[in-house]
Amino acid sequence: TELSTMILERIRDVPDYPRPGVVFKDITPLLADPVAMAAVVEELAGTLQADKIVGIEARGFILAAPVAYRAGAGFVPVRKKGKLPAATLEESYDLEYGSATIEVHRDAFAPGDRVLIVDDVLATGGTAKAAVELVERAGGEVAGFAVLMELAFLKGRERLAGVDVRSLVTV
Ligand code: 5GP
Repeated sequence: TELSTMILERIRDVPDYPRPGVVFKDITPLLADPVAMAAVVEELAGTLQADKIVGIEARGFILAAPVAYRAGAGFVPVRKKGKLPAATLEESYDLEYGSATIEVHRDAFAPGDRVLIVDDVLATGGTAKAAVELVERAGGEVAGFAVLMELAFLKGRERLAGVDVRSLVTV
């Protein structure tokens, strides 16, 4: 489609970042283009009905905040451990080397809130899976998980069984 072409043309491959052998998908050219950004936000905001939009630190914030505004929903940050000021729930997940922990405020959701989780890229699905667990433990109902780009060869979708996963482009 026109939207997927617009997105693909504005996501740049950066070889050997953050480590040798990894090709990083850099979304900054897309963020810098107001027409493409507006189209992306419009699409993500129209995807699924939700009371709250969760953004995953850090690039997820950049997309989730305008999506929440456009959808008339609340914004909830999921952050790396130690960054949120009030009482939190935390979830750890494995990375290629070591592990990571993300947190959400315990009182972020009203019981039964429908929650759309937004991030920039779905890779192995570890981050997404941990975010889904966090939202559910905090009393939210996961309406879906939406990303700009899905890296299908890393099979993240398989780790998210039962979750409505939406990606604007798949590579
Ligand atoms: P996963 O947990 O699915 O392996 O990795 C997804 C998370 O890492 C997302 O929060 C995403 O921002 C980040 N990530 C992993 N690979 C890339 C990439 O190539 N480009 C961008 N922009 N983010 C990535």
